[in-house]
Amino acid sequence: MVRPLAVAFDCDGVLADNGSSWQAIHDGFGTENKQMFAKFIAQEIDDDEFMADDVAKWMEAKGRIHKDDIARCYGGISLMPGAREVVGRLQERGVMVAIISSGVDIFVGMIAAMLKVDDWVANGFDWDEDGWMNGPAPSRVLSFEKGAMVDKLRRINGFSSDRIVSVGDSGSDLSMMIEGSSFIGFNPTGTWSVDAFKEAGVPIVKSRDLREIWPILMDGEEF
Ligand SMILES: [Mg+2]
Repeated sequence: MVRPLAVAFDCDGVLADNGSSWQAIHDGFGTENKQMFAKFIAQEIDDDEFMADDVAKWMEAKGRIHKDDIARCYGGISLMPGAREVVGRLQERGVMVAIISSGVDIFVGMIAAMLKVDDWVANGFDWDEDGWMNGPAPSRVLSFEKGAMVDKLRRINGFSSDRIVSVGDSGSDLSMMIEGSSFIGFNPTGTWSVDAFKEAGVPIVKSRDLREIWPILMDGEEF
């Protein structure tokens, strides 16, 4: 792997030590979406349909939803071990750090601020002027087409693809690996992600310490 000029991280389960920023809202509101999640993973429904279904379930359970209700679902926010150190050292070396997430922007924005990353994008909601939810906002990041955002990062900054590395924990994050770029599978979620990573032939780090990606990123250098 050539030393990168930019590293694009997934958020949930990679920089943030959580399961899913969508699931956190279900946990907070006492709802669930297992059936729709299975359809989503099978790519029978897309991000927009999934978000619309989630919002419908929450509104049914809670009536109207305020921005503060969503923020409260992220009370126990914590970073992945080593995330702060890895992001800090990459930036010290002039490497651009971005987050490309199909998670919830309120949560991803908190992580982006904690880590002071250079750029980030995520999905979210449409709010009225008093902070009440109108519904989902149109998706900015498609879970199975995250490469569109990596490519945007490449174009805006004039990087060549081979100097970009993406890091994700889910099989769908493989879509971040635009042609010529590299990918590291970190802390894979479930066997479907392990299988997808193996099939793609990408390096896999089965650890919950983000510093373990450093030797792969930096040509064998220990953190
Ligand atoms: Mg993830």
